[in-house]
Amino acid sequence: MKLFNTLTRRKDEFVPIQPGKIGLYCCGPTVYNFAHIGNLRTFLFEDFLRRGLEFLGFDVTQVMNITDVGHLTSDSDEGEDKMEKGAKREGKTVWEIAQFYTDAFMSDMQALNILPAHHFPRATDHIAEMITQIQQIEANGLTYQSGGNVYFDTSKLNDYGKLAQLDKQALQAGARIEVDPNKKNPHDFVLWFTDSKHGNQAMQWDSPWGRGFPGWHIECSAMSMKYLGKQFDIHCGGIDHIPVHHTNEIAQAEGATGQKPWVNVWMHGEFLLIDQGKMAKSGDNFLTLQRLVEKGYHPLDYRYFCLQAHTRKELNFTWEGMDAAKNARRRLNDKVLALPDGGAIDASSLERFKAVLADDLNMPEALAMVWKLLDDSTVPDADKRATILKMDQVLGLNLGQVVAVEIPDAVRELVKQREQARADKNWALSDQLRSDIEKAGFSVKDTGDGSVITQL
Ligand code: AMP
Ligand code: ZN
Repeated sequence: MKLFNTLTRRKDEFVPIQPGKIGLYCCGPTVYNFAHIGNLRTFLFEDFLRRGLEFLGFDVTQVMNITDVGHLTSDSDEGEDKMEKGAKREGKTVWEIAQFYTDAFMSDMQALNILPAHHFPRATDHIAEMITQIQQIEANGLTYQSGGNVYFDTSKLNDYGKLAQLDKQALQAGARIEVDPNKKNPHDFVLWFTDSKHGNQAMQWDSPWGRGFPGWHIECSAMSMKYLGKQFDIHCGGIDHIPVHHTNEIAQAEGATGQKPWVNVWMHGEFLLIDQGKMAKSGDNFLTLQRLVEKGYHPLDYRYFCLQAHTRKELNFTWEGMDAAKNARRRLNDKVLALPDGGAIDASSLERFKAVLADDLNMPEALAMVWKLLDDSTVPDADKRATILKMDQVLGLNLGQVVAVEIPDAVRELVKQREQARADKNWALSDQLRSDIEKAGFSVKDTGDGSVITQL
């Protein structure tokens, strides 16, 4: 199998540390708000990866962290703590915010048919592991204390920034004006905050350096090593993590153990854009899965939409694109439903499918192969069905299943209003509401037993 490795910037032959076994770590959500569909694109990519590796016969242990402390609004050490921000916004405690958005995240994952990771460690449950790792880094002479905080001294590592291929000289010369006067070098980062501007942070713990809270990056190096060992195979996230978060995770892990490389393969998902722009956590282009459902799409329509682009390519979200994905998924499902049972897997189609997965997980090509197989007159229909259902173990589209349609609350509300309009004999309003319901992707029929809603 070949995988594109951000460390080497090329497709490398993948060799697991232990034959047949893979340790896979994926940076998870910061649970201060709903995940937006850009975040979900990255989690879908990681699910395709996990399923693809398992399909090719590897025994995968996947870990995804839940960030519930320490992540500031910038990925470095500036700005407000995201959890505090969420708590202020909603008038709740940070702990309530964390629980609410963790649950929301899990329900999005389930709706998208994303397999649950084997471990979902929460940062706040692993403060002791983080403190131990900071102590190891400190014992290796790579830290300093300044302004009450513990910093990682990046100038002590001669390969700091290798993942991002940061050219240190160029960066130092052109570095932005440093906002944190406590830092010795522009790339230094906080391992443990104590006496900083975040003094009244609700989440605080005792530590050898004083009461405070961890910097964001330390949770991932500490927790991944707890569950996957000191060195492991694959680490993933979105491309925005390359220059700061993952770069700092490597510094911490290798700084703590001295063993290199900490992780063999780094894989990064390209961004989802909305109308060619960057997705913001606020504003009009903040789209959640729930919003798509309210607009009449099934969560798996979004899964299909993401399958159409390679992970290493930007993907532009448009409503037209979503409509096309919705229609294509429905057509595909109908075709598979119409195929007879009782066939055998077509070995040569399956081999080709595996080859496509083994080539850096080419999901658009894997999806295209399913369509090609449907048109292949040399394969009996029942065998097509058996083969496609097997392939769907990776695609995760629940093909061949009659899916119960979930009617969004907003549509139910329109139907209720329409029933009232009909009772009032307000036919103009009733017609208007019917058209609104259809725009949301549903049709309504009036029967003796009331309104029957079906998906268009
Ligand atoms: P966060 O909850 O902000 O920590 O982000 C969760 C994951 O989503 C990370 O792996 C990010 O790199 C990724 N991510 C953030 N924005 C986007 C986007 N627009 N498209 C794809 N992935 C994203
Ligand atoms: Zn991380």
